[in-house]
Amino acid sequence: MDLEIRTLATDFLIIGGGTAGCYAALTFCEASGGSVLIAEKADIERSGCLAAGVNAINAYIVPGKTPRDYVDYARADAQGIVRGDLLLTMAEGLNRTAAKMESLGLTILKDQQGRYAARGSRNIKINGENIKPILAAAVAAQPRITVLNRVNVFEYIVRDGRILGAYAIGVDEPVLYVISAKAVLCATGGAAGLYRPNHPGFSRHKMWYPPFNTGAGYAMGILSGAEMTTFEMRFIALRCKDTIAPTGTLAQGVGAKQINALGEGYEQKYGVTTSQRVHGTVMENLEGRGPCYLRTVGITKEQDEDLQKAYLNMAPSQTLRWLESGRTPGVQNVEIEGTEPYIVGGHTASGYWVDTSRETTIKGLFAAGDVAGGCPQKYVTGAFVEGEIAARAAAAYMGDQTAPPDRGGAEEKKRWLEGFLNRSAAPYGTDGLEEAMQSAMDEYAGGIGSHYRYSEKSLRIAADKIRGLERKTELLAAPEMQELVYILELRERLTLCKSVITHLGARRETRWHSFAENTDYPESGAEWNCYVNSRLENGRLNMIFRPLVREEDAYEH
Ligand SMILES: Cc1cc2nc3c(=O)[nH]c(=O)nc-3n(C[C@H](O)[C@H](O)[C@H](O)COP(=O)(O)OP(=O)(O)OC[C@H]3O[C@@H](n4cnc5c(N)ncnc54)[C@H](O)[C@@H]3O)c2cc1C
Repeated sequence: MDLEIRTLATDFLIIGGGTAGCYAALTFCEASGGSVLIAEKADIERSGCLAAGVNAINAYIVPGKTPRDYVDYARADAQGIVRGDLLLTMAEGLNRTAAKMESLGLTILKDQQGRYAARGSRNIKINGENIKPILAAAVAAQPRITVLNRVNVFEYIVRDGRILGAYAIGVDEPVLYVISAKAVLCATGGAAGLYRPNHPGFSRHKMWYPPFNTGAGYAMGILSGAEMTTFEMRFIALRCKDTIAPTGTLAQGVGAKQINALGEGYEQKYGVTTSQRVHGTVMENLEGRGPCYLRTVGITKEQDEDLQKAYLNMAPSQTLRWLESGRTPGVQNVEIEGTEPYIVGGHTASGYWVDTSRETTIKGLFAAGDVAGGCPQKYVTGAFVEGEIAARAAAAYMGDQTAPPDRGGAEEKKRWLEGFLNRSAAPYGTDGLEEAMQSAMDEYAGGIGSHYRYSEKSLRIAADKIRGLERKTELLAAPEMQELVYILELRERLTLCKSVITHLGARRETRWHSFAENTDYPESGAEWNCYVNSRLENGRLNMIFRPLVREEDAYEH
């Protein structure tokens, strides 16, 4: 199969038309008269996290609270390792973006006084099912935005530390796109599928985070020499067992507490940060007091029905399970378990090292949403705000006309990709290598199977195995374009695995139990009140340790 080279030019290229990407496109049109091109591997009408199901705005400044309260909460949850400047600029925009979404047609539930219905102290309730189509419709109504659906971006074009565009392939058509742009936003979300999931094999895509967010943005950044941060702070979600449905609606919606099989509450024993909640569950199971539950027995009939409706909106399999078994949450406590680890900068702090305007260390390349680091607990509205900030900064940067990417680079990429497409047989399959990667990460880099624990020795084994698998990907064969996308996704995940392993080893402490449980260094130390960053230089991942940035600072690279 031969690839056709198709060249495109735009002012602002947005990679990933999800939450942050779509919102950034709308903002850019308000801030600049330039053109926007969104390259999305799926279809922006239903893609990314918003298509996975949301039922609340998890980041909102409710009456009586301030953006600084939000910063304090996120800092405490991350035990200090956050960027104050990023958190504050994000928190200041949360309510603005929620109001804009309401004006576009999002239903935000109201109480009897007409105020937004709060859930806990930072959330408001929405009808989340149609949030992505609403965003997609707003994008479609803007004539300066072009959307390329089913186009997978796999590499940046960078010259002299500055972004010129990106390479992409058609998921269905045999096309290699060479896209040049004056500024680029990476908004590809986080990374799922690095570790063996709760449901491996045939059901491996049944996971909490969208399995098609494969970490492309992280990998492209790593390979282009961008500085990246805090990959060691993995995210492990505490979920309803088997269905992997979220538990926040139970914990915050009806105040359900974590209990062990003996009915004993264990939250206070281990702490209530996000990572401590997972750790407590792991420990109770390990010490023979599992399984663990959220105590829902005793809630009112109305709460019981509300929960069933909320889950139908967000994770229908959970409601179906309740109805099928006849044991709704008011009758039976909900069993919980931890997922495999993900890399998700919207929940923890891992991703691109950006300045306050969300520009990465590559000139003209911006990052927003789950792919951007330093700013945990951003969720839907935080991803919107970051998209907004990045788009405004990109519009201001636009004045600079960039040189077009050279043709020789495209010809070389074409030959490399056609190598996979035209290979008649391969000694390995992509699925098999992916499974081997997930097993290696699970066993040696702190997955479910090793109770999220690792040591220097085990990380060395993981690194060796990942390097071996990476070499094997060179021999894979792709009979069609979709298979080629799978190969690129596997390679992205392997690139990211290497960075995650190096970061896990570099932070020689255990600050976030379960998220980064280093058995060689089980305690936390004040000398680790710093960011662990990395940058690939001459094929070597160099670690950089940076002092904390406070909210009073405007950080510049
Ligand atoms: C199951 C689930 C439930 C959640 N519930 C809530 C909730 O109720 N409330 C809340 O506030 N937050 C919730 N969140 C968090 C919130 O949805 C996310 O943090 C936020 O939407 C992330 O936005 P993003 O733009 O970074 O990523 P996404 O919205 O996932 O966008 C990434 C986009 O990039 C595309 N892409 C990826 N790779 C490529 C590539 N190589 N080329 C082209 N395109 C690519 C993807 O297809 C996707 O469209 C939830 C998250 C999940 C996973």
